[in-house]
Amino acid sequence: MQGSITYEKDSLYLEEIGPGHTSVRYKLKEILFSKQTPFQLIEVVDSYDYGRMLVLDGCVNVCERDEANYHEMIAHIPVLLHPQPESVLVIGGGDGGTVRELLKHEGIRRIDLVEIDAAVTECCKDFFPEIAAGFNDPRVQVFNEDGIAFAERSPSSEYSLVIIDSSDPVGPAEGLFTEAFYRSCHRILDDTGIVVAQSESPYVYPDILKQVYTLFGNMYAEVNPYRISVPTYPSGQIYIMIGLKDAAVREDFEKARVLNFFSNYGDTLKYITPDVFTGKYFLPGDVKGLLGE
Ligand code: SAM
Repeated sequence: MQGSITYEKDSLYLEEIGPGHTSVRYKLKEILFSKQTPFQLIEVVDSYDYGRMLVLDGCVNVCERDEANYHEMIAHIPVLLHPQPESVLVIGGGDGGTVRELLKHEGIRRIDLVEIDAAVTECCKDFFPEIAAGFNDPRVQVFNEDGIAFAERSPSSEYSLVIIDSSDPVGPAEGLFTEAFYRSCHRILDDTGIVVAQSESPYVYPDILKQVYTLFGNMYAEVNPYRISVPTYPSGQIYIMIGLKDAAVREDFEKARVLNFFSNYGDTLKYITPDVFTGKYFLPGDVKGLLGE
């Protein structure tokens, strides 16, 4: 995706242009922050319909109105499927939304967040305090470096979960969609480890969704894509790919864990419900077709 902010007839707009011929335009109230870093152009804008938006190289990465949809689904589904998740590696995710959700699980004792661009985290603390809410928790450690190199040098079997919360596969995030990186993630997971990866939309990057599905299929006992409705992502949706090293192990405990989580934390959740959890792997026919199922 590409995009830019323009003035037109005294109004301010953010226009996102996809890899195809479709663009989306958001009318803005104001630009709150703008900084070019060695990695990307970071902008924070206030929009009429979706509240504040974090815009990286012209693409909306996070916005106030629908961020919960993405962050709840990328965090809680792998946690609830793992028998006893204690240590989590988040790659990307510098806004803090995924970390905020992970911290709702008391069994998690350690969260390492590897965000290549320190300026993303700093800016989110200032402009999105409700999203960047977990950075002071003693369980969280932030590393500002490339997630690919971090995964490469991490010890084998170090983590229960690896969450790849990356931006689009251009610029610094390009390597986060490669086989070599996915192999490192597999190696650093424990025997019941689970990976999830932001895998784009079948309407915008169909090849990426298919590629991640195939690569995970070569490495994990069970692989499933699941869909999240996110109005401000191109085509209004995004898929997460989940890979489980040991598919059998979760069957016994899944139900009790899920019920317990929703009875304790249901009030804090906006998108995920027990029904959404149960129906997470429901795939529409066109996506099944794309994936050759
Ligand atoms: N949910 C968002 C989306 O799909 O649009 C992504 C959120 S998060 C802001 C993505 C983050 O990944 C960005 O802050 C970016 O700096 C970070 N990132 C990109 N490439 C990276 C890399 N190689 N290592 C670590 N972080 C990276």
